[in-house]
Amino acid sequence: MRRPKIRELKEVIKSLFGRAYTSDFPRKPHTPYERFRGRPYFHEEDCLGCTACAQVCPAKAIEVSDQVAAGAIKRKLTVHWDICIFCGQCEASCPTLKGIMLSREFDLATTEKRQDLKQVIEKEFVICEYCGEPILPYDQYVWVAKRLGALTFTNASLLLFYLRSAGLALKERFLAGNKQAALNRSTRLKILCPRCRREAVIKS
Ligand code: SF4
Ligand code: SF4
Repeated sequence: MRRPKIRELKEVIKSLFGRAYTSDFPRKPHTPYERFRGRPYFHEEDCLGCTACAQVCPAKAIEVSDQVAAGAIKRKLTVHWDICIFCGQCEASCPTLKGIMLSREFDLATTEKRQDLKQVIEKEFVICEYCGEPILPYDQYVWVAKRLGALTFTNASLLLFYLRSAGLALKERFLAGNKQAALNRSTRLKILCPRCRREAVIKS
């Protein structure tokens, strides 16, 4: 029989009489270390509604659905905590790095139904003022305009959107689509989707 090494024997005796390496949870609250990957949460004010997180999620734990409600088009983003594998890909791929962030919550035991283990947020769309199709979520449009800075002036829809936000043009967030009217030169002074803008430029 091989004799145990002295070093290992010392460790065994030390651990028998020393402090336990594990925490006393659930008898005492446990604070995980700083970079622990726990339950992810959307932070609505920093989320653009771009869906990058949903596209990279390997477990398909983030669901995206676009819905028409009360005359507006809204994007619903849902993170399902019962499917999430806490990999952190969503946080790493978020353009704002703060739209979805992993918390340090590790205690996920609950008596709730599985389908209730989720967080839902909604983002309103900017719609094309000619055809009524959604262009981008409102917050993403603002973010793009800010990132472009002076280059915003090269895009008529973004420029108009920017002027309206600054109170220098019509105050409405967007106008209802009016596909009955013909595309003409004046249509170019509306917020348009890329397809309608191309058509308006060609036809005017
Ligand atoms: S959390 Fe980030 S990546 Fe996901 S939709 Fe919001 S802005 Fe986009
Ligand atoms: S942590 Fe990973 S599995 Fe969970 S929602 Fe984010 S990308 Fe998906």
